[in-house]
Amino acid sequence: MERIAVFPGSFDPFTIGHKAIVDKALPLFDKIIIAIGVNSEKNGFFTPEKRLNYISDIYKDNPRIEVKTYSSLTVEFCKENNAKFIVRGLRNTTDFQYEKTIAQMNRQMSGIETIFLVTPPEYGHISSSVVRELLTYKADVSEFVPKAL
Ligand code: ADP
Repeated sequence: MERIAVFPGSFDPFTIGHKAIVDKALPLFDKIIIAIGVNSEKNGFFTPEKRLNYISDIYKDNPRIEVKTYSSLTVEFCKENNAKFIVRGLRNTTDFQYEKTIAQMNRQMSGIETIFLVTPPEYGHISSSVVRELLTYKADVSEFVPKAL
């Protein structure tokens, strides 16, 4: 049976920190679905379409990675895509506290297990929100993102 994992997030935008987590997850699963959570109330900094195209282009040569948008509960999206695992990245204890609760809720609701991968230390300080802040001031963000935005 194919081992499929969903890597959910806002990815607004996708950073080298996110890419490091995907790189670590690739040896563990047959297929990884990068799932861009879309909130109907707010469009985000980049539109969902722009995020989808940006990430799809990064992985266009990797048939084991799919990129999709979704607007349902993450566990429902996992079931629809036959994924038994969720991948999340951990940068620090704040991430852990928050993620632990969600992972336990998700498992109770669906039996889907969350696999946590610890970020490489050199990427621990990188976040989409800081990249967005820099972009607002037209600063160069090229060292924080996998390709030009
Ligand atoms: P969300 O809004 O769901 O937190 P994000 O796009 O901010 O979505 O993050 C998606 C996932 O990537 C989360 O598991 C988050 O902890 C992880 N992540 C974000 N930035 C980094 C980073 N620099 N290194 C490792 N993991 C990260």
